[in-house]
Amino acid sequence: MRFMHIRTRFAPSPTGFIHLGNLRSALYPWAFARHNKGDFILRIEDTDLERSSQEAVDVIIEGMAWLGMDIDEGPIYQMQRIDRYREVIKQMLDAGLAYPCYMSEEELNRLRDQQMANKEKPRYNGLWRPESGKTLPAIPDGVLPVIRFRNPIGGSVIWNDAVKGQIEISNDELDDLIIARPDGTPTYNFCVVVDDLDMKITHVIRGDDHVNNTPRQINIMKALGGTPPIYAHLPTVLNDAGEKMSKRNGAMSVRDYQKAGYLPEAILNYLARLGWSHGDAEVFTKEQFVGWFDLESLGRSPAQHNPEKLLWLNHQYIQNADAAKLAEVTKPFAHELGIDTEHGPDFVQVVGLLKDRANTLIEIAEGSKLFYLPAPQLTSEQIAENIPEAIKPALNDLIEAIKTAEPSKESYGAAFKQVLAKHQLKMPALAMPVRYGLFATTQTPAIDAVLVVLGKEEVVNRLSRLV
Ligand code: GLU
Repeated sequence: MRFMHIRTRFAPSPTGFIHLGNLRSALYPWAFARHNKGDFILRIEDTDLERSSQEAVDVIIEGMAWLGMDIDEGPIYQMQRIDRYREVIKQMLDAGLAYPCYMSEEELNRLRDQQMANKEKPRYNGLWRPESGKTLPAIPDGVLPVIRFRNPIGGSVIWNDAVKGQIEISNDELDDLIIARPDGTPTYNFCVVVDDLDMKITHVIRGDDHVNNTPRQINIMKALGGTPPIYAHLPTVLNDAGEKMSKRNGAMSVRDYQKAGYLPEAILNYLARLGWSHGDAEVFTKEQFVGWFDLESLGRSPAQHNPEKLLWLNHQYIQNADAAKLAEVTKPFAHELGIDTEHGPDFVQVVGLLKDRANTLIEIAEGSKLFYLPAPQLTSEQIAENIPEAIKPALNDLIEAIKTAEPSKESYGAAFKQVLAKHQLKMPALAMPVRYGLFATTQTPAIDAVLVVLGKEEVVNRLSRLV
């Protein structure tokens, strides 16, 4: 184990939708490979031709790249490995590890009905399984066989799951799995085994909806002379209502989060905690996560999606982000709202002003609108209503003080203070009319910072129209 070269994989079926739970199934094997300086492989399980699409593959690859999960090998498409699966099926037939079964669909159904009527568990009865001394039925005309794996009889399959502990399944529970359909196409559980062996996967970290497949996969793997990898089956991710997360239950896709103005760092941090923990660390970098990640600290019970926590994390990352970098990723959102960030106030300054209060990039973009709209054209009624006559002398003094002040928050703050003291006014009495005069609204961030961002000339022009 100490010298093992760790190789993990994420093996999504590209069926069109990738939610946070799916991404977590990518994140943990990725982090485990990175922590151990191993390899991380992306394998696309696209043998279900009707449900798979290249568009869905692109979404997965883009989503992973966006979150910074880099791939060492792949994407490897199962559809491009069909010849390899066929080759292994042939080897298994030749070695007596698998056999053709000519039982028709109808016969199988009849068998199942009978077993159900006898209150038995429905399973294939081994009719076509060759045994020494057994005479097989005559091969029917015109029937293409399926190929079945000769599952061991008696004994059990045992593995030590890194999350669930030891699991033991009796071989009596497992019938002879179909590994190829009548048209020769290999089946899902079989392809997974060939791939995990060929790709030298050492740790299979995946959702626990695959626990039932694992004993079958282990048996086939052993029959092929391979050593089963270590399995870590991750408990499901539930949505905020406590149901299994799925598109049908309203889950958002990775692209939805991108469009809603989430930062990839926040999503990654969030996913990391969705079933894994390191003490009580809640906010950490990708590097810390990789440094800390281990299978021992994986959660054993289902993780529940908590949208408020994700939003809170997003806020943390936005607040602590460098304004210039944040401005870069916010620009597309601002442009979407018709804001021309290339003209008017410096967008980095605007973002710097808004980031402390914003939960998403969209909120920053929305907030920045204020600074790029043309000066409001106030009617005389609006002025009369919002700029009291009694304030005008103070406003005049403020304009003069601003003209000569250093263009900084501190100097503008001092200018306000001095004017307020002279006129015996409280801050809101002056700040509210100033806000209104600048933007036709009294909802703005801190006024001294707003003056800096809007720029002295623009501020003086806008305020001068009021007095
Ligand atoms: N393709 C499977 C899925 O998307 C994953 C199989 C595996 O990880 O072994 O659920």
